[in-house]
Amino acid sequence: MDIHEYQAKELLAGFGVAIPRGGVAYSPEQAVYRAAEIGGSRWAVKAQIHSGARGKAGGVKLCSTEDEVRQAAKALLGKKLVTHQTGPEGRVVHRLYVEQAVPIERECYIGLVLDRKSERIMVVGAPQGGMEIEEIAKSHPEAIIREVVEPAIGMAAFQARQIAFRLGLAPAQVNRCVTTLLGAYRAFRDLDATMVEINPLVVTKDGAVLALDAKMTFDDNALFRRPNVSELRDYAEEDPREAQAAEYGLNYVALDGNIGCIINGAGLAMATMDMIKHAGGEPANFLDVGGGASPERVAAAFKLVLADPKIEAMLVNIFAGINRCDWVAQGVVQAAKETNLKIPLVVRLAGTNVEAGREIIKNSGLPIITADSLADAADKVVAAMRERTASAGRA
Ligand code: GDP
Ligand code: MN
Repeated sequence: MDIHEYQAKELLAGFGVAIPRGGVAYSPEQAVYRAAEIGGSRWAVKAQIHSGARGKAGGVKLCSTEDEVRQAAKALLGKKLVTHQTGPEGRVVHRLYVEQAVPIERECYIGLVLDRKSERIMVVGAPQGGMEIEEIAKSHPEAIIREVVEPAIGMAAFQARQIAFRLGLAPAQVNRCVTTLLGAYRAFRDLDATMVEINPLVVTKDGAVLALDAKMTFDDNALFRRPNVSELRDYAEEDPREAQAAEYGLNYVALDGNIGCIINGAGLAMATMDMIKHAGGEPANFLDVGGGASPERVAAAFKLVLADPKIEAMLVNIFAGINRCDWVAQGVVQAAKETNLKIPLVVRLAGTNVEAGREIIKNSGLPIITADSLADAADKVVAAMRERTASAGRA
């Protein structure tokens, strides 16, 4: 799960990371009010979307008067911001963060990631941070600092100091940077993050070390024990179908193809997607209905998958162990009737109560295509999809 910059900053501040003063705003009036509250004479008005590279996309505006703050807020709120991370569809800005603008002496980069190779938290640093970090990483890979943290000990102060020196900080700033690094590490560990990024970490003209931007990502599987993190979820930033799936306890991931899939078990789902590709088709989604799916849950899954307008054919592939084929069949028939299904539907059932399940499908009066094996199901659904798109082309 991702969170907004202002939320990440608030969490990090709780671990001793220094941040500029700021406040959230949902309207231009509120943005002006925030600026007045913060004081000073320069502010940054920043679009809060779950994406980096906002600066280059016009999502960060520096303002010197309250009227400029109002205009910047007006220009950003409700606007679609397209960054090189959002994809062409962009993200609509619903929240702003108004922040005291600081005079920047230099910008560095620090990030903490989960390094799968060493199975450790790794600190990544670069003496030159900011908006060009990707280019710097490419053109000067030797400038990138990498330090692995020993989990039994945690980040040691000497290690943080070493990183701070390698970032090229002056002795006066090293201790401030150490506080930031130790705080970011503790936040990562204590909140079950998978990524913490501060870019840029700035040294201001008066020598302060501040996190000017912050990004945090969390382990979804640990959210249950981090209510203070999970409450920060912003559904407006998520694929609405994935959010809906989570409500039903379904594992759903939207993909680009046109063959909708309902499968039980993540492994079988992946194998089925491979088989669809092997047969020349493209899956529209990954969906695992899980074990012991009730007819209602199957019907919910069906509707969820169908809500994708790209779908040209559906494949239900259930190998029932804990599940029951008759329940799955009931759910499929119910959902196909309720949604007045117009596209080809291929169902392959195997395992517990398979005979009862096949009976339900057969007696449903619906034109459901049945298949015996996984390969057979994949071939049939791709053939049905092709026939449908071909006849749609003729019409
Ligand atoms: P990102 O583009 O989404 O990563 O957004 P950032 O929060 O990193 O802002 C982009 C850039 O805007 C930073 O690298 C800074 O150069 C600039 N910026 C942001 N806040 C301030 C500020 O308070 N003062 C100044 N001078 N520049 C700022
Ligand atoms: Mn940034």
